[in-house]
Amino acid sequence: MKAEPFYVDGSTKMFGGFNRDFSGSEFVLIGVPFDGTSSYRPGSRFAPNAIREASSNIETWSWRTGIDLEEVKIHDLGDLAVVHGDASETIRRVGETVEDIVSAKKLPIVVGGEHLISLGVSKAIKDVTIISFDAHFDLREEYLSNKLSHACVMRRISEQGGQGKIIFCGVRATYRDEVNFVKEKRIPYLSALDVLRNDVHQTSSWLRKNLEGARRVYISIDADVLDPAYAPGIGNPEPEGISPTHLLDLLNNVIDDRVVGFDLVEVSPPYDNGNTAALASKIIFEVSSMIKRARG
Ligand code: MN
Ligand code: MN
Repeated sequence: MKAEPFYVDGSTKMFGGFNRDFSGSEFVLIGVPFDGTSSYRPGSRFAPNAIREASSNIETWSWRTGIDLEEVKIHDLGDLAVVHGDASETIRRVGETVEDIVSAKKLPIVVGGEHLISLGVSKAIKDVTIISFDAHFDLREEYLSNKLSHACVMRRISEQGGQGKIIFCGVRATYRDEVNFVKEKRIPYLSALDVLRNDVHQTSSWLRKNLEGARRVYISIDADVLDPAYAPGIGNPEPEGISPTHLLDLLNNVIDDRVVGFDLVEVSPPYDNGNTAALASKIIFEVSSMIKRARG
């Protein structure tokens, strides 16, 4: 793998208490400890290791899928050597590394870090419809005079050629210009209130309908989509979020064999009491089990 020099020291990383050989794995997990543009509560650079630690201390059975994590073959590649202060170089490295994972016919699990790193993933995974679970649209033209900010990540992805549409789910923190932009561009979205007030089956069928015609699907999970009561340790807490059960039931109803990878971003351990890291590792367990089930 040509991206190997980008990885950190040789210390062994492990997700879920197991580490498969790269060659025998279905999924390859990579940590991206970058929080260079975090504007409110930085600290997501510590999330990959906090989530790994939590993952070794929760049980492995998935009730939704009937799969034990032990059967899900995940190789933990370790953490990318990010460049603090250089977002575009970090994005480039994420892209190259994910490209290597994909060309080895593995599914990437990218653990942030802040949301900007998804821009790097999208350089490596083209022609996908993206579902963004996030309290925010992240569609700003720029934020704090910076176009390469976590608050602009979906705007930058949408400007890249060769991508399918982006579907937003769980949005609740925005402002007028962004709402006008979304309506004008006819970007499909469900607000957090839509998710909270409707039946999960209605919401799932709305999502499935919007995925009709998609050849490949990528899932981006910004942990702030969850209510801060469940996920206190995040960069930008926003009240009235959805619950972990909403999120996982929706994913369980929507994930099929078109899903080619996912990321989980914005957990900020300095603000956590441990619950957010445990929940993040649970989400990674469940989503990888769902993808495994879908792929047979
Ligand atoms: Mn985000
Ligand atoms: Mn967000």
